[in-house]
Amino acid sequence: MEYTLGHQLENKQIERYARQLITPGVGVVGQQCLLKTRVLVVGAGGLGCPVALYLAGAGIGCIGIVDYDVVEIGNLHRQIGHSERAAASCVAKAKSLAASCMGLNSDITVVAHELTFTSETAMQLVAQYDIVVDASDNVATRYLVNDAAVLSKKPLVSGSALKWDGQITVYNYNNGPCYRCLFPSPPPAETVTRCSDGGVLGPIVGVVGSLQALEVIKIATNNVEGVLSGRLMLYDGLAASFKTVRIRTKQATCVVCGDQPSVTALIDYPQFCSSPYSDKATKVDDRIDASLILTCQEFKQQVLDAQAAHLLLDVRPKQQFDICSLPLSINIPIDDLTKAENINRIEQLVKSADPPLPIYVVCRRGNKSQDATAILRQRLTDAESLAIKHIKDGLLGWSEQVDQAFPIY
Ligand SMILES: [Zn+2]
Repeated sequence: MEYTLGHQLENKQIERYARQLITPGVGVVGQQCLLKTRVLVVGAGGLGCPVALYLAGAGIGCIGIVDYDVVEIGNLHRQIGHSERAAASCVAKAKSLAASCMGLNSDITVVAHELTFTSETAMQLVAQYDIVVDASDNVATRYLVNDAAVLSKKPLVSGSALKWDGQITVYNYNNGPCYRCLFPSPPPAETVTRCSDGGVLGPIVGVVGSLQALEVIKIATNNVEGVLSGRLMLYDGLAASFKTVRIRTKQATCVVCGDQPSVTALIDYPQFCSSPYSDKATKVDDRIDASLILTCQEFKQQVLDAQAAHLLLDVRPKQQFDICSLPLSINIPIDDLTKAENINRIEQLVKSADPPLPIYVVCRRGNKSQDATAILRQRLTDAESLAIKHIKDGLLGWSEQVDQAFPIY
């Protein structure tokens, strides 16, 4: 028997997408749009997993996933498109997530781009897709993705998350602003809190990634009115509240999307942002005088093994101190270090012995402990007569150089 079909969907597609097809605003026309749309997801991490999985489920015709990294166990609390098996075999994240997407929907094409999204690779990748999703975790990539999307005239669905909070917006859509319209210059690198330092919860990236996928679906199905362009949605997971605020309109003076753009080709973004294409911690440089530095080995041999009396000050946040700490260390987080009560407490402890106890300062990576050493040398009475040193490479160094039983986080 011949039936009237006002579309090109096959019966198996009608079955698969049934609940989406009957949703107002989608319908057969919307579904056909989704099947024709090509989306590039930059980052296969906490945001990229829900974005790619929901887009795969929705029947986005082609999904490209870019990521240079491999799956690790420490990813799995939030990156739920990967698996323990992928972590054990160090599978590339792009490949692992692509496989999960294909497992969900073999009706579409998923392409794993196992490479770093850089000025060299971005333009030809973006050119192959209709919509770009920023699911990255660092500032340099954010500027790069923005510029590549603007130069290629593609809408950019942007999301970010940290601790209990998330943000979502759509850039470069329907004459709306781009990322640079809002943030013409990058923040000082030292003021940026990375997820690897500040932490992040799985459901937070899950919410943000889901909302990004929804914006992609709205753009692809021409539900123009509701697209989150020119507005920023803020999610406070701890308070359980959403807030949507108006943001700057497209700026005529914007260097990339303005009337007379000066950025007409991609630039060197790690240099522009003074930070790499990664949220991973980089090697910490020595910023204080060599006489104030003690290596982990020296601390073990000269202080612990020699059973020399001392004060070991751990300046990490309490949440990190609670994970694991060195014997007899005292926790005063660096943000509380200048409080008079803490300075008094340290002075009392140090001067309880004669001669006064030497102070050793430790943190996670040997970065904040340098700042803390400088603070103590400024604030303690008769500081010049005291021995105050920081432990180079911190507890990460302790784990690598002295005792692998010390847990790494
Ligand atoms: Zn702009």
